[in-house]
Parts: sequence; C-alpha cells; structure tokens
Amino acid sequence: MRRELPPVVHEALATLHDELLPVTDGELADYIPPLAKARPDRFGLAVCTPEGGFAAAGDHDEPLTIQSISKVFTMALVLGDRGLEGLLKHVGAEPSGESFNAVSLEEGTGRPDNPMINAGAIVTCSLVKADDSTERFERILGMMSGCAGRELEVDEKVFELEFATSDRNRALGHFMRSAGSLTAEVEPTLEVYLRQCAVLVTASDLAVMAATLAAGGVNPFTDERVMSTEAARHVMTLMATCGMYDASGEWMLRVGSPAKSGVAGGVMTASPAQFGLGLFSPPLDEKGNSVRGVEACHRLAERFSWHAFALPADRQLPAALEDDDAEGA
Ligand code: GLU
Repeated sequence: MRRELPPVVHEALATLHDELLPVTDGELADYIPPLAKARPDRFGLAVCTPEGGFAAAGDHDEPLTIQSISKVFTMALVLGDRGLEGLLKHVGAEPSGESFNAVSLEEGTGRPDNPMINAGAIVTCSLVKADDSTERFERILGMMSGCAGRELEVDEKVFELEFATSDRNRALGHFMRSAGSLTAEVEPTLEVYLRQCAVLVTASDLAVMAATLAAGGVNPFTDERVMSTEAARHVMTLMATCGMYDASGEWMLRVGSPAKSGVAGGVMTASPAQFGLGLFSPPLDEKGNSVRGVEACHRLAERFSWHAFALPADRQLPAALEDDDAEGA
C-alpha cells in the first residue's frame, strides 16, 4: 500500500528541487527533435521504499522516454530466461571504459563488454525468449510495467525517429553479426531495442522501478514478484559498475548506490532494502548524465550517507525513512 514518507524526506526533495532548478548547466541530447525540444527546466524527483513509502517533488509526473535505463529490465528478463551463465555466454560483465555506443568486442569471444552499453544491450534484447519480435517486445514491456506497477506505453514518434536515424546502432548490430556475437537478425533486434528505449515513464515510475530492484524484485505497490532476488542483485551489480556511462566509477565514489541513467535525462538509483530514487531533468553533462539528477544524488547521498560501503552506524537513511505513522496516500 502506498503511504506518505515522513516530512523530512518530502522536505529534502522539495528543497533540492528549489536549489537545483536555477542550475542551467548541461546540454540537451539533440539527435532527434523530441529530445532536442525537451524543456530544460523540467525537474522531478521521487523516492519509494520497498514497503511502499513514497515522496516526490517537482515534475515527478512528467513523462520522459526511458532510453538506456531500459537496459536494466531487459537484462533482468534474460537472467530469468537463461540464468547468469546463459547471459554471460553472450555478453560480458566488465566496464568498457569507452563510450556507451562504442564498438568494442572482447578478443577471443566476441562478446560486447556488458549489457549496459548499446552493443551489449542489443545482444541482450536478442536473448529474450520469444517466438517473434512482437512477443519479445511485449515481454520486455511487461517486465518494465511490472516493475512500475502500471501498464507503460511506447512513444511511437520517438521510436520511429530513433529507428530512422539509428545508423550507429545498426552498424553495431551488423558488426556484431559479422563477428558472431549477435546471431539474430539485425533489423528486428534493433526494432525491439529502440522500442524499449522509447517507453514512457515518469520520475515517480523510475522510483517505483528502482524500489522494486531494492526490494529484491517485488513491486512495493502490487506485491507482484517481477524478477528473482538473484536477478535483482545481478542487475544492481552491473548498474554499480557500468550504469552511469563513463562516470560510473566517480558515481560509486560520491553516491555509492547502483544507478542507471538515460539520454532523455532520467536517472534511477536503488539502495538494496532501503529505497529507490527516480529523477528526471533533461540537460546532460559531458558524460551523458542528467546534470541536476547527478547533483541531487550527490547532495542526498552526502546528507543521508546511504553509500553501499558506509558503515551501518554512519547511515542516516533508515531513520529518515521510518514510518511516521503517516496516512496512506
Ligand atoms: N536510444 C538511445 C540509443 O541507443 C539510447 C541512448 C541512451 O540513453 O544512452 O542510442
């Protein structure tokens, strides 16, 4: 059941929203018009706990395309379909140290580095068990919807524009097919991959999706088990090492919770058994992460000390998230 989190959490989000709204750093992604025309002043934050505690501020109900954050959920689905070994046979688990759309395959095996970069995500899509691409996409959408606790939809316009201009991903697909890393057909696989990137979510959805991971795969509101505890752990592990593009190392130093960002300005971070946080603000830094989203997490992590490697005694968060005998919302 959904219930309000204590006022201190609402206040922390509202204050951060007001403090960071005037920040004008960062550039919008401009490779397709809907992203280039996004409003730079949009900024939403939401937090959700595994028990269904919820708080939000700003434009947390504003839709954005999930983009790269979708890679997490497709990976979870493939872990369910084929297990960790089945995934690792085709995709590695190492940070690439290169940009998200890099053409780099492991010597000897031809595996893309990890499922969080485009090459690895495209192969991961092809590994979802299904009779055809329609069913494959429906299963991916079902996984994302299960984590969000509502039926998500695709922004068809964004999908069509991405599909028409995705030369680099198309080239990656053909390159991987020639190397034997991708055995499925390129066009239908690319269609599934780009359709999953065009799924519409809000910062509130991202918080619930992250809370589902933090809860070990159970949606806090529907109580549906959408993935196994192991799958949730495995995806959070790769989010921790590879989730924030080339800034993943510094993110873990400063924030210390597994996270994934996307080119539309979404950020999702999960702290196991504690909370999921969803953020949305379109301007991106030079690494491709939301400027306000990253800064908000830096400040929150510093204030509440939720770092995965912090000593339990130093953590402020569990107390802040404790039930305040608040009413259900
Ligand atoms: N649709 C984008 C692509 O594959 C997603 C990029 C991203 O969010 O990093 O190029």
